[in-house]
Amino acid sequence: MSSSYLVKYAEIGIKGKNRYKFEDALVHRVIERVARVDGRFRVTKEQGRILVEALTDHDEEELITALSHVFGVSQICPVTEIEDKDFTHICEALVDHIRNRLGDKPFTFKVFAKRSDKRYPMKSPDICVEAGDYILDHIPGAKVDVHHPEYKVFIEVRRAAYVYLSGYPGAGGMPVGTAGKAMLLLSGGIDSPVAGYRIAKRGVQIEAVYFHAPPYTSERAKQKVVDLAGLISEYTGPIRLHVVNFTDIQMAIYEKCPHDELTIIMRRYMMQIAETIGRQQDCLALVTGESIAQVASQTMQSLAATDAVCTMPVFRPLIAMDKQEIIAESEKIGTYETSILPYEDCCTIFVAKHPVTKPKLDQIEESEKSIKEIMPPLVAEALKTCETIMVKPR
Ligand code: ATP
Ligand code: MG
Repeated sequence: MSSSYLVKYAEIGIKGKNRYKFEDALVHRVIERVARVDGRFRVTKEQGRILVEALTDHDEEELITALSHVFGVSQICPVTEIEDKDFTHICEALVDHIRNRLGDKPFTFKVFAKRSDKRYPMKSPDICVEAGDYILDHIPGAKVDVHHPEYKVFIEVRRAAYVYLSGYPGAGGMPVGTAGKAMLLLSGGIDSPVAGYRIAKRGVQIEAVYFHAPPYTSERAKQKVVDLAGLISEYTGPIRLHVVNFTDIQMAIYEKCPHDELTIIMRRYMMQIAETIGRQQDCLALVTGESIAQVASQTMQSLAATDAVCTMPVFRPLIAMDKQEIIAESEKIGTYETSILPYEDCCTIFVAKHPVTKPKLDQIEESEKSIKEIMPPLVAEALKTCETIMVKPR
C-alpha cells in the first residue's frame, strides 16, 4: 500500500550534543534489520526521524514487524509522500491515505501539522483547519474530536510533504551498541533470555555464556540455548555465544563440598568464569535472569554470596519481577515456547534436596577451601576448551 515509512524515536531525541551518535547508530540498526526483509529499501536520516523508502514491492506487515524489533524505534508510520508540496495535492493524498487504511468506517480525528520548511506559504494552524475541512467534505464518516480522537492525522512539510495516521508502536529503548557490551549468563530457562532482551533494549550489546555438563546435559539442551540466542538476536543482531564445559568443575564441587551449598558454590564459579571471558571480550558487566526469592539461590543472602566473587557489576534486570510477568514478556518476545522445551539443565541435575537459603559468606568460603587446590587447573581447562559460536538471526 504505502511505500514510505517514517520511523520515530523518542529518548534519543533528548541526548544533547551526542544525539547524532545515537541517530547514526539507529540508522545503522535499521539498515541491518531491513536488509533481512524481502525487497529493497532506502534508509535516510530526516530531521529527527528516519525515512524508509521501499524501492520494490514488499510485504508491509513484514517490514513493520522488522522495524518494531529495532531498539530505539518508538513508532513506525506508513506515509504518503507528496513531492511537490502543493496544498491541494496534499489534501487529495491525505483523503486517499485515510480511505486506503480505514475504508468506509466512521471515525473521529484531529489534524496535527508540522512545518519545518519555513518558506512554505501556509502556517501550521491554517494547514490543520483547511485539511480538516477537506477531510470532512470528502469522507462522509469522518468527525472531528479535538479531545479524544480515534485517529491522529499528521501532515509534515519538510523537503517533501508527508501525510500519515497514528503509527505502530516500536520496541522503544536505545540502539544496540550505544551503551557498551555485557556478558549474559544464558541458560535454557525462561528468565535469562528475557534478561538479555531487557538489557539490550537499553542499548547494550550482549555476548552470552552457557555452562553445559555433558553427558549429564545433552546436545539438545545445548541446541536449545543456541536457539534461544538466535531468537534474542532477532532484536540485538548477532550474538557471540561461549559454551563452557562445566562437568569437571561441577563434579569436583559435588565430591568435595557440602551438598546444601552446591548450587551457591557452583554459581560462584559460573560468575568467575563468565567474568574472565567477559573481560577478554571487553564486556563491562555481567547479566543474569535472577529475581529475588524465586528459588533458594536467589534470596538476597544468596545473591550477595554470588556477587562477592565478582568485580564487574552484575545486572539483574528481572530482580523485582514476578514469574508471571516474566512469562508474559517471554511470550511477547517469542522465547517462551523454546524455553519450556523439557531438556535438563546442569543446575537441576546436581541440586540438593534442601539447599541453604541464607548462606553465610564466611561459611561458603570455608567450604570452598577443600577445592582451592584442584579448581584452578579445572577452570583453566574449561576456559581453554570453551567453544565460541556466532549466533545470527534467521
Ligand atoms: P533461567 O530461567 O534463566 O534458567 P532460573 O529461574 O532457572 O533461570 P537458575 O537456574 O537459578 O534460575 O539460574 C539463575 C541465573 O543463572 C539464570 O537466569 C542464568 O542467568 C544463570 N544460569 C543458570 N544456569 C546457567 C547455565 N547452565 N549457563 C549459563 N547461565 C546459567
Ligand atoms: Mg535455569
